Amino acid sequence: MSDWQPDTVAVHGHASVPLEGINPVAPAIYYSSTFRAADAPHFAEMASKTRHAGFYTRYGNPTHEQAAAVLAKLEGTEVAMLTASGMGAISTAVLALVKAGDHCIAQSRHYMATAKLFDEMLPKFGVEVTIVEQSDLGAIEAAIRPNTRLIYVETPANPTLVLTDLAGVVALARPRGILTLADNTFAGPINSRPAELGVDVILHSATKSLGGHSDITAGAICTTRALAEEMWDTSLTLGSTLSPMDAWLLLRGMRTLPLRMARINENALALAAWLEARPEVEVVYYPMLPSHPQHEIAARQMRGGGPVVAFSVRGGYEPTSRFVAGLKLASQAVSLGGVETLAVHTAAMWAGSLNEAQMKVAGIAPNFVRMSVGIEDIEDLKRDFAQALEASGAE
Ligand SMILES: *Cc1c(COP(=O)(O)O)cnc(C)c1O
Repeated sequence: MSDWQPDTVAVHGHASVPLEGINPVAPAIYYSSTFRAADAPHFAEMASKTRHAGFYTRYGNPTHEQAAAVLAKLEGTEVAMLTASGMGAISTAVLALVKAGDHCIAQSRHYMATAKLFDEMLPKFGVEVTIVEQSDLGAIEAAIRPNTRLIYVETPANPTLVLTDLAGVVALARPRGILTLADNTFAGPINSRPAELGVDVILHSATKSLGGHSDITAGAICTTRALAEEMWDTSLTLGSTLSPMDAWLLLRGMRTLPLRMARINENALALAAWLEARPEVEVVYYPMLPSHPQHEIAARQMRGGGPVVAFSVRGGYEPTSRFVAGLKLASQAVSLGGVETLAVHTAAMWAGSLNEAQMKVAGIAPNFVRMSVGIEDIEDLKRDFAQALEASGAE
């Protein structure tokens, strides 16, 4: 390097620092879009492998490999593939597995963009979709056809945290050779491991609890090695590639996932029970509350309820709006699973895109609040909620 000009040093200088023998305790970040071959045969070998963490970052990256290894282990699947967002994971997985003439079964309640994928995009490509009520296993069974390729579920789901019986769906699908896909974003791998119940593909918005700090957008597909191979070409073609920095932040976030989730489960259940006893509150929805209509399923397939608690405020739209606006500690913002408590007035959120009738179909009541409970001190949270409820005029 001693005879290099500054222009050359600026570009290549970092490579002169020998890394052999240096073992960082924290994972290193590989912020490189491409990787050098040692010679022509090595280059040919790199290019011929279908998967490679050291060839070109859309094909893989060492930081992705590390984060994916952690997540696959947490979910109990053979492999995990990372994407640039939860929707990147969901669209890649579904589009990879279906072709024109296939039939899919999905739920009446899905994350809004997932619903669009099933309601609008798949039919455009000649894939038939039947939408069923997710709490009704009989309706799922009745929807099965000879050309059913997959059953897509999401549990718990917006808006009332309705659950899908995962073991029940697998029992319908497996013997018929139908694939099962589950969005596990709300519960997360600490609270629910669908692979243990036989679900084939687990999808995540890693933007939420896995990242956990409201600072990245990321997604993941957790599955078997064989199914990952089937999705590989689609993943390369759609190009939902996670940035190495965000993979590193995901890796950093996941290191405290069990700790954060233990506190979040505890806070969310305590707040849900406290809300249930408040005179200003009509109904509280949380899987771990004995009052949840499917509590028995929650007890069977979930170890904790996760961050999302939903409830309705007495008195309709106006008091609900005043309640959310009156929160001082909790922020009015979308997303979930971060360290901080968030709350949204769902009817206000959709007021710009859905009319009253559409909201009714989507199950969005005017007095509905969805919140994501964080890791703050529970007494501080209760105090904040108490003052906002008292000031809301709800009765
Ligand atoms: C946020 C979310 C998604 C989409 O994830 P992005 O990272 O925003 O693309 C999908 N499913 C659920 C349940 C979500 O909460």
